[in-house]
Amino acid sequence: MDAELLRQYLEFYQDLGIKTLYRQPAPVVLVGQADPEGTPAADLAAIPIPIPMDLPPLGPTNDTLLKIIEDMGDCRRCRLWEARNKIVFGVGNPQSPLVFVGEGPGADEDAQGIPFVGRAGQLLTQMIENTAKKEGIEILRKDIYIANVVKCRPPENRNPEPDEMEICGQFLHRQLLAIRPKVICALGGVAARALTGHKEGVTKMRGKWFKWQEIPVMVTYHPSYLLRQYNQEAKREAWEDLKKVLHYVYD
Ligand code: URA
Repeated sequence: MDAELLRQYLEFYQDLGIKTLYRQPAPVVLVGQADPEGTPAADLAAIPIPIPMDLPPLGPTNDTLLKIIEDMGDCRRCRLWEARNKIVFGVGNPQSPLVFVGEGPGADEDAQGIPFVGRAGQLLTQMIENTAKKEGIEILRKDIYIANVVKCRPPENRNPEPDEMEICGQFLHRQLLAIRPKVICALGGVAARALTGHKEGVTKMRGKWFKWQEIPVMVTYHPSYLLRQYNQEAKREAWEDLKKVLHYVYD
């Protein structure tokens, strides 16, 4: 395994929220031939030849959204299954160059199995479609892809717990690798933290570019935050962020 592949594996685990990895010492393989430089066979025998680490792949090869849904099945990997009605996997164009990532389903999404269909979702749709139209970019909501960090509704709309994000994060990770968009837009703090690993608040992170697996990530406000009456300035900022994203992807 070369340094680049190892770096990608470590990033993969970091994205899943795994902070500690344990590596077993490499078994010593005895080699019996002398090398052309004349190193005696006895010396070579003492050199440990590392056996490649048996790590799971970054994402299964030829992964598809359909395979991921199949693997997820009737998921009961964390406690969020207990109160859910529907798993909210994701929606949109599986070849979209742009993916929006929210936090987790709310009540409307849980009832319908589709992300961002409640009030916040309607605002997100308007923002995408109106901004695109104003900027002369011909896209509708159906042309992009929308997913969440966790696929089941957290009770009382609480933030997902770290273990829920870690467990469900593997599916978001696979979704993003299968789609390989040109840009990811993280909506709100939970998505921003899950994708960038940064712990600052959204106000500090918004409008800036980060990276997830070499894919540029723009952080902006969650639409439900923008629905609050007093957030006029935040709305203006979110529109600015969205313009940046749309021009980066579609110009
Ligand atoms: N909020 C989210 O983060 N995701 C949804 O799907 C709906 C509301």
